[in-house]
Amino acid sequence: MTTLAAAPRLPMQTKNWQTKLLIDGQWVDPVDGKSFETYNPATGEVIAVVAEGNAKDIDKAVQAARRALESGPWSRLDAADRGRLLFKLADLVEKEKEQLAQLESLNCGKTITDSRGDLEGVINTLRYYAGWADKIEGKTVPVRGSFLSYTLRQPVGVVGQIIPWNFPLLMLAWKWGPALACGNTVVMKPAEQTPLTALRMGELALEAGFPPGVINLVNGFGETAGDALVVHPDVDKIAFTGHVDTAKIIQKRAADTLKRCTFELGGKSPNVIFADADMQQAVDGAFHAIYFHGGQCCTAGSRLFVEESIKDEFVRRLVEKARQRRIGDQLDPATEQGPQVSREQQEKILHYCDLGQKEGARLVLGGKRWGDKGFFVEPTVFDNVADHMTIARDEIFGPVVGILPFKSFDEVVDRANKTYYGLAAAIFTKNIDKAHLFARAVKAGTVWVNCYHVVDTTTPFGGFKMSGQGRENGEAVLEHYTEIKTVTIKLG
Ligand code: ADP
Repeated sequence: MTTLAAAPRLPMQTKNWQTKLLIDGQWVDPVDGKSFETYNPATGEVIAVVAEGNAKDIDKAVQAARRALESGPWSRLDAADRGRLLFKLADLVEKEKEQLAQLESLNCGKTITDSRGDLEGVINTLRYYAGWADKIEGKTVPVRGSFLSYTLRQPVGVVGQIIPWNFPLLMLAWKWGPALACGNTVVMKPAEQTPLTALRMGELALEAGFPPGVINLVNGFGETAGDALVVHPDVDKIAFTGHVDTAKIIQKRAADTLKRCTFELGGKSPNVIFADADMQQAVDGAFHAIYFHGGQCCTAGSRLFVEESIKDEFVRRLVEKARQRRIGDQLDPATEQGPQVSREQQEKILHYCDLGQKEGARLVLGGKRWGDKGFFVEPTVFDNVADHMTIARDEIFGPVVGILPFKSFDEVVDRANKTYYGLAAAIFTKNIDKAHLFARAVKAGTVWVNCYHVVDTTTPFGGFKMSGQGRENGEAVLEHYTEIKTVTIKLG
């Protein structure tokens, strides 16, 4: 495993970073003048001090978004022109993608290779929804009697968007793209761990020409700024990505105003390896499933079911591969795994590693902190994990995989589904019947066959059961950002 090298000087370190709140097209100080520090998780060092908004700032942002929605130039813009603005934003992001990728890595700890990949996703998403802007259509409806009925698809209104720290830029694009294509205005609260790249996106949005109040950004904490957005009577919808426990709070807090809510939450995704799979493909797939971005993915393949007859050989190969993992400075292109996002996450993951051993799983690799500074965790493998163990039930959100042996197809489908979650599932097999039968039977919003973590802007993404409500991406998300209105006219 590599050592932690000094972080290279970044191009943006010579610039004045934007740290204020974006409200009504202006960069402003928070009403109460508060701020908070943000860190490089590889070293724990402070890299910026950022304006901290609270309920007063959220109120200002919501009022600005309401004005922009009801009476500003945005409300009169042709749908095609909304698309044009999104295309322009995508072009600006493309021009600056390397700097954005570096800033993303510096603040959230993901490797520069992964951030570069995310930036391609951001650009694709903005362009995909730019293309949708003038293709969101109503219908004419064959009603009884002498009437003409048709439907209009109109924006839901002012949308509060609350995003997490694991894919800060990509989650921003998944939220802004469809919301703006449909004509809504937005107030976004980025995660408190990763406030920086959203601020740069705010600057680029202004440069692209989005009118004042269409996009507002309020950094701050969940219980203050986030909650204020959720309870605000003038916010029509909340789009949230984050922890299931937070979603439960939000659903309750949004009840008084009966807000529309969509949730994209966590998972404990089953990844099932059959003995007839291509062994190398399955090992590589399982490895990517759990260790991509240090396991900090809602779709992480953390329950690894392996057919008993190949299990020992499979574990041997997986562990061998994990031993080779290059850990270190997230900005070094050779690094394969950076730090976890925060000390809190590091401690939580290490706590689960202790629990796994106490509950009787066999620790084969890792289980410890890596290095002596920053928030790193070693790639960790537990063998002989049983369904009832905490590490097989809770979302760990770290580089920790539990291997669960199985004997038969019916048994593994049943066990794969025994979870409150249902975000993703995967199967590795050469048998086409097994693949399709599994895809039908497993309760998950996304199923991968002989691959993992393949998520594209064009395909619906979201969870069954407690992994979410609604879908993001593809055409599917558009229904969550529009209201359908029926217009009926008497004829003759
Ligand atoms: P994690 O545990 O991975 O940090 P969270 O669900 O706590 O996930 O955070 C995701 C986002 O939700 C962040 O932007 C956070 O500030 C926000 N958040 C946390 N608590 C609340 C809350 N009570 N109301 C609204 N937003 C919240």
